[in-house]
Amino acid sequence: MSFKKDFEPGDQYDDNNIVCPHCGYQRLADFEDNGEDVFDDECEECGKEFVHHATIWITYVSRKPKD
Ligand SMILES: [Zn+2]
Repeated sequence: MSFKKDFEPGDQYDDNNIVCPHCGYQRLADFEDNGEDVFDDECEECGKEFVHHATIWITYVSRKPKD
């Protein structure tokens, strides 16, 4: 299983930043960027429009039970 299956060719992705697909400009993601809905966005650097959404990874954690 590949975790990249939701990405399409040309998608930009980063753990901490919203990356402009036009010029590659990165801005730090805000709390309001953390939705899985698609947001319309505009690059602060080149001014072009793009869309972004957040993908939430699921991490399974297991440990031994405490006595
Ligand atoms: Zn840009």
